[in-house]
This record gives sequence, structure tokens and C-alpha cells, in this order.
Amino acid sequence: MTLKERDKKHLWHPLTQHKIHPDALPIIKAKGALLYDESGKTYIDGIASWYTAMYGHCNDYILEKVQQQMQQLDQIVFAGFTHEPAIKLSEELIKILPDNQEKVFFSDNGSTANEVGIKMALQYHFNKGEKRNTIIAFEDGFHGDTFGAMSASGLSVYNGPFEDFFIDVKRIPTPNSENINDVLEQLKFIIQENKVAAFIYEPLVQGANAMHMFEAHHLDQLLELCRANKIITIADEVMTGFGKTGKTFASDYLEFKPDIISMSKSLTAGFVPMAVTSCTQQVYDAFLDDSVGKAFFHAHTYSANPIACTVALAGIELLQSEEMQHNIQRIISSHTTFDNTIKNHPKVKITRQKGVIYALELNIDMNRYGKKRYEMFNHFMQQGVFLRPLGNTIYILAPYVITKEELDKVYNAILELLETI
Ligand SMILES: *Cc1c(COP(=O)(O)O)cnc(C)c1O
Repeated sequence: MTLKERDKKHLWHPLTQHKIHPDALPIIKAKGALLYDESGKTYIDGIASWYTAMYGHCNDYILEKVQQQMQQLDQIVFAGFTHEPAIKLSEELIKILPDNQEKVFFSDNGSTANEVGIKMALQYHFNKGEKRNTIIAFEDGFHGDTFGAMSASGLSVYNGPFEDFFIDVKRIPTPNSENINDVLEQLKFIIQENKVAAFIYEPLVQGANAMHMFEAHHLDQLLELCRANKIITIADEVMTGFGKTGKTFASDYLEFKPDIISMSKSLTAGFVPMAVTSCTQQVYDAFLDDSVGKAFFHAHTYSANPIACTVALAGIELLQSEEMQHNIQRIISSHTTFDNTIKNHPKVKITRQKGVIYALELNIDMNRYGKKRYEMFNHFMQQGVFLRPLGNTIYILAPYVITKEELDKVYNAILELLETI
């Protein structure tokens, strides 16, 4: 039996309607920006496997560090024990996170990082004797698929069957020059009418919402209002973290720093799953008490897995290297040049860029998961480029190590699509 046939026997894939979805494509190897299928055909990973493998797949430096760590310490219970990779990672993260961050808490993925952030915010108020139970979130935001994170997510296609079980979330639109005053009014009204515990947001770029972008100075106005009302702010940097917006974190563009930051995805460079939720000393201090009941009772078996911490440390080292910073600048200016050649194309409705994140919206009608989407996907795959259009938006978020030639191939595949679609 082929891999495709064996796959269909027992596997249930995520985000997949198995009745109509075409077969999954077996990938047998990945290196740098390239994916290899069974026939040896290569595909440029134009979205870094959901923004994880930013330093390139199977990065040699990370591999070396992981192999050493695997022979030293594989796993240890993180309640009551500690180890150097977690300690070192906390030190390195605090160095690169916004100045107000002091503590880091481990979990396994982006959803749990947000789940932890939401629980921290709710218990923060609870520990202070205040019952605040409303969370504010953006319409069309995405924070993950566990219950708390899902409740905060506004992309309803995922959420239908579960809505009756959600925590209390009130939504506001993302701000822009036209609506900012209205959004501020809505926010004020929600704060007046509810006991608001937290505001969770994707700073500057909403990944799952087709890379929708908004301005830092508008978000700052919302954060200022939250701060004045003692609302805990949670920046979901699961997608934006570790250099993608052109700064280490998207929150670095903001004047008002979040109380809590969640990160995952490229934290572990595509090697293994792990997540971190960081917070301020003020948040942490609200959990300190002689009573055990005020502690944060949340744990995952693999919390701060030493191998995952080692990967994250090597990833941070790579991110800070001159070579990677140079790559990031190269991609940013390359996207800008491409944008100038394409933004006035009759089939392009609008383009947007933040750092190495580039998105273009097509002037064509299509539903989010329709046939056109597969046609576009197939067009790219035939050209040896893996891009995953969201509705009529095509976006590029390639590994930082993508070469100039590879990047040109991605651009050309998009240009050709515009000619044929
Ligand atoms: C991917 C993502 C999540 C969810 O992370 P998982 O690891 O898939 O659970 C949450 N928030 C944002 C902004 C994301 O991009």
C-alpha cells in the first residue's frame, strides 16, 4: 500500500472534511525552505509550515544542540524539579521580551498558551477579591481551539457546535482611521456594562483572519483605556513573535506593553511543540499567598520539556545572529519591491505587509473554503510552491533562510496565478 492509502485507513486530519477533501500529500523530508515528496519533487515552504520553521527545516545548529540534550536529560516533572535549559530559556526570553515581562510559564501549544493567559487573568482578579468574568476580544480574531481560546476566537466556522459552552466574551472590531472613535466608544460601553477581566488581542497582524493588519497607534488607544480600568491585557504573539513583524515582538511597536504575552509556533522552530505565557511581576505577585488555593493550578505533563527548551534557546540564538537579522531585512525589502510591481495589477484588490509577512487580496469572488481555493493551492503546488490561501488572500510567511532564487520562484508563481485565474 502507498503512504496515501495507508494514511486514509486510520488517520483523521485537522481542519479536514474527509468526505470531499483530496488525499493528503506525503512529505518525506524537509531541509531549509524546501519540502520533498516521495517522488523527489520539491516545494518551497512559503508559510514556514504555519510560521514555525523560521530558521529553516531541520536546522543543523538546532539539531546539534538537540542531540546533545537528548543524551543528557530528556524529561523531568517540572513541579518540584527544575533544570538548566528551562532556567536559561527564562533568562533569554526575559532579555528579548518587552521590559515589563518578568515571569514565564510553560505549556504545549498556542491554544494552551492563551488558555493559560486567560486563566491567569481571571484568577488574578479572583485572588484580589474581585469577581470579573468578561473577556474582550477582536471580531475575527483567532486564539486557538481549546475552550477558553476558542471562546475568545471570533472566526465562527470553527466554533458553531460549542458556542453554548463558551466563557463570556464581548467583541470589538479591529481599529482603523475611520472607525477608531467608534471602537473606543464600544470599548468604553463594554467596560461600563460588564466586569471586564481581560482584553486578548493579536497585536498588529491577525494570522488566521487572512493576515488582516492594523496600526500600533490605534491599538495603543485601546490598551490605554484597558490600563486605566485595570483590565489585564493579553498579547497573543503566537504568530507574530520572534521577528516576523520586523521587530522581535509585535508588542515592541506599542507604547502600552501587555500584562501577559503568549508565544508558541516559531518559539521551537518547527522541531517540537511548546509554548510560553509570560507575565509581569504584578500579575505573578497576585498569586503569592500563604494559602495554597491562590496558586496557579495549571499543569501539563510535558511543561518545560528540556529538549523543547533547548530547541527554543538555539532558536533565539539564531534569531539574534547577524545572518538571520540580515535575512529578515533582505526579505522585507524584497517583499516591498515585489509589492511595487504587483499592487496596481487589475486582479489585485489590496496588498499589505508587516515585516516578512506579505499578503495580497485578489479581486475575485470566492467563499473561504470553496473550489477556487483548491485551484489556487494546486496551481502553486504544481509550480513547486507551498502557499495556503485564506479565502481570496494569498500570503507569504517564508522561513528567514529562504534564498533570493526561492523567493523569486514564489513571486513568479503568484504572478502566473494572476495571469491564469
Ligand atoms: C496558531 C495560533 C494559535 C493556536 O496555536 P496552536 O499551537 O495551533 O494551538 C493561537 N493564536 C494565534 C495568533 C495563532 O496563530
